[in-house]
Amino acid sequence: MIITTTITQVQAQLSLARKKNKTIGFVPTMGALHEGHLSLLRRAKKENKICVLSIFVNPTQFGPTEDFTKYPREKKNDVLLAKKENIDIIFYPSEKLMYPPGYLTTVEIKNLSDVLCGRFRPGHFTGVATVVAKLLNILRPDTMYLGQKDAQQCVILKRLVQDLNFATKVFLCPTIREPDGLAMSSRNKYLSIAERKEASVLYRSLCLARDEIQHGIRNATRIRYLIEQNIRTLSHGKIDYVASVDAENLMPLNEIKGNVLLMVAARWGQTRLIDNIRITLK
Ligand code: AMP
Repeated sequence: MIITTTITQVQAQLSLARKKNKTIGFVPTMGALHEGHLSLLRRAKKENKICVLSIFVNPTQFGPTEDFTKYPREKKNDVLLAKKENIDIIFYPSEKLMYPPGYLTTVEIKNLSDVLCGRFRPGHFTGVATVVAKLLNILRPDTMYLGQKDAQQCVILKRLVQDLNFATKVFLCPTIREPDGLAMSSRNKYLSIAERKEASVLYRSLCLARDEIQHGIRNATRIRYLIEQNIRTLSHGKIDYVASVDAENLMPLNEIKGNVLLMVAARWGQTRLIDNIRITLK
């Protein structure tokens, strides 16, 4: 496994691979790897000759009052885990490499970035889109693997790839969960024992809503109310939003039909958690 901090070195490795007609799978992350990240890496490894993992805690996707400085950085353990998965290359750029002095350019994906999580995290998705555009330009992978856990990010990055004509395919991987249903996240570490116990209420509430939909309920307001009530009754989580949207374009739905995302974001203290489930109705 090669760990590289320079663009020249990573590009030299990848052009060597391309010359040998080896396909390149790419998994962008902020590190502190868990089973969710590993599932993406395994998929990328399975489908490609070369698997590149990037680890970069991207400052531009954090708001001024968010957790950039305290975000977990676990390089040693990440390297061990990546080695175990037979990852070929870790690209580990510095902040200065990604945003050198004089850096001015951003990539903004209009509309999709201002709704849902974007309302509560202004600038977040512009930071994400910018750094991913840079990584795609640097690495030029065949396929990029993303987790459905960050559903809005998936829609936005698919848009980015399509709108800017990147020659990379996007593959979405299912959400990996703890045994009680909580979606795995590097931020789960921030939760106290009591908060951690409560946090699985997000997934349980989404499942409850899915059951209702399967029993024929189609009124989106009723479905959202059910989720909100369940979270409020069973936990101290403060809800940012509960939404039912079209899974392709994030437009709010009044009636549950087609490809639907039920999405939720809630806070326990300073810790903000998100979750979603996708439902397809014929
Ligand atoms: P992050 O390091 O949080 O930026 O995540 C890097 C990638 O891993 C993103 O594509 C996430 O959607 C994905 N990811 C994070 N948590 C999970 C999870 N529990 N299951 C599947 N994918 C995940």
